[in-house]
Amino acid sequence: MHHAPLVLAISVTLLSTSAMGDDATYHAERGLAAATQWPGYASLCDLDSHMRNVNVPRTSSQRQRSAGDEHHHHGSRQTSDVDPLPPMQVFDNLFFLGNHSVSAWLYGDEDGYLLIDGLNTDEEAREDILGGMDTLGLDPSAIEAVLVTHGHGDHYGGADYIAEKLDVEVLMTQADWDLVETLGEHPRFGPPPSPGRVVSDGETLQVGDYHLDVHVTPGHTPGTISPIFTVYDHGEPHVAMLWGGTGFNFGPDVDTFEAYAASAAKMRRLSTAADVDVFISNHAKRDGSIEMMEALAQRQPEAPHPFVRENDGEALFTVLEQCALAQAARFRTDLSR
Ligand SMILES: [Zn+2]
Repeated sequence: MHHAPLVLAISVTLLSTSAMGDDATYHAERGLAAATQWPGYASLCDLDSHMRNVNVPRTSSQRQRSAGDEHHHHGSRQTSDVDPLPPMQVFDNLFFLGNHSVSAWLYGDEDGYLLIDGLNTDEEAREDILGGMDTLGLDPSAIEAVLVTHGHGDHYGGADYIAEKLDVEVLMTQADWDLVETLGEHPRFGPPPSPGRVVSDGETLQVGDYHLDVHVTPGHTPGTISPIFTVYDHGEPHVAMLWGGTGFNFGPDVDTFEAYAASAAKMRRLSTAADVDVFISNHAKRDGSIEMMEALAQRQPEAPHPFVRENDGEALFTVLEQCALAQAARFRTDLSR
């Protein structure tokens, strides 16, 4: 884990928040303290960010702190974002098929897979998803559906390519099917998927012998999905939660920040109830997947699984909740001035 840049981010934030009110600083301090366990999410508490909303150019250091999906409303992506990551079997029934920009996760086994997300483009779907499955010796014809966590191009861009090639459906919430309809074509992403199946909060998706619980977490988009599902480590069960939408790229909207914070609180409750001990997302730079997969590749027999972090869930939801509350307070203060 990279602790040094985090220390820098904390000091930068504290120096610059005096004019924003105590509330924003209070929440940002709590979020940043919890982010020591999850440094990839620390930039959510940056109270200088999102200046693009008022058309002020951002500095290069601010750009570097953004994760992949925050780029799609303002300019071209850095070439380093599409550097490949090796495909990997992370659990008995969970496979990473993504790149440095965005993750796709394959859940299940040869009796049935659910593909979670479709990456940026048809090309990435072909190379990273189908190519990755080929590298791992997995059969794409066992994919039963493509679940798109939310209606942004970096997750749906290659979804239709997979769905058409394998003759399966794309699944998304109604709210995000509606969102996608308003977005249209974008040069960085594959086309929005043609209308598919609607999934709803509380629904359980059966995938071969496994199942996945759909939880809707409004905030990043109106219908973001953050599923909970059981994974196995050499037969030993663990419970995973995938945070389906991370970046604050929806503008300075206080209500949306508050909805985001409420969704984080909801997933804290559900994750505690379900004994979640694996916390992933759909961006490897955010959730620590890059470092955790490196550790997994070096794992000794009998050593703990690097993705199993039963003591870090509270910290994750605190970062997500408190940083959203910090931004809500910041923009509430801005509006009242
Ligand atoms: Zn997004």
